[in-house]
Amino acid sequence: LQVERVRSLTWRVSRTHHRAITDPLTSLYNYGFFRERLAMELERAQLTGDPVALAMFDIDHFKHYNDTNGHQEGNRVLQKVAELLRKTGRRGDVVARYGGEEFVVILPGSDEERSMGAAERLRNALQKHRFVFEGARIPLTASFGVAIWPADGKEPEALLSSSDRALYAAKQTGRNRVVAASSLPPPATGAS
Ligand code: GH3
Ligand code: MG
Ligand code: MG
Repeated sequence: LQVERVRSLTWRVSRTHHRAITDPLTSLYNYGFFRERLAMELERAQLTGDPVALAMFDIDHFKHYNDTNGHQEGNRVLQKVAELLRKTGRRGDVVARYGGEEFVVILPGSDEERSMGAAERLRNALQKHRFVFEGARIPLTASFGVAIWPADGKEPEALLSSSDRALYAAKQTGRNRVVAASSLPPPATGAS
C-alpha cells in the first residue's frame, strides 16, 4: 500500500512538472520554459564557444485563416504546425510556442548557414503541406527570423530582439521567407 502511494505521488509530481513546462494546445514547450532554456544555452555557449541559433516564426495572415475557417480549425492548424516542427527538427533542438501563432526554435551548436537551412526546410514543409478544410486546400505559410549568438546578440533579450527584427523584415518584404538578422542594418540605439 505504501509503495502504491509513493508511486502515485511520483507520477503526479512528474505530470505536474510536465504541465508546467508544456503548452496544452500543441504539446510544445511553453514560453516560460523556453526563456529558461535560452538563458541556460547561452551560458553554456559562453563556456564552450559554440554558436547558438534562434529561429522565430509567425504564421502569415493567420487572422484571416481564423476569420474564414473558425477558431477551432485555427487551433487544429496550430497543432499540425507543431507536428511538422517536431518532424523536421533535429534532436537537441528546443521547440516552443512563443505566443498565439508564433513559434521559436533554439538550435544549440548551429551557425548561420546551418540554421538558415533548417528554417528554410521548415518554411518549405509548411508551404507544401496540404492543409484541408471542408474539402478545400487552404494554403498556409510562415515568415522566419534567424539570429545567431554571439554576433546578433550576447544576452537573451538582445538575441530575441534580433530574431524579432528579422522576422518583421520577412513580413515587410513579402512574407513566406527566411531573413537573417545579420542581413539587416544595425538597430537604432538610444531614445528617439
Ligand atoms: P501576419 O502575416 O502579419 O502575421 O498577419 P496575422 O493575421 O497572422 O497577424 P495578427 O497578429 O494580426 O493575427 C494573429 C492571429 O492569430 C490573431 C488570432 O486570430 C490568431 N490566433 C492567435 N492565437 C491563436 C490560438 O491560440 N488559436 C487560434 N485559433 N488562433 C489564434
Ligand atoms: Mg503574430
Ligand atoms: Mg501572423
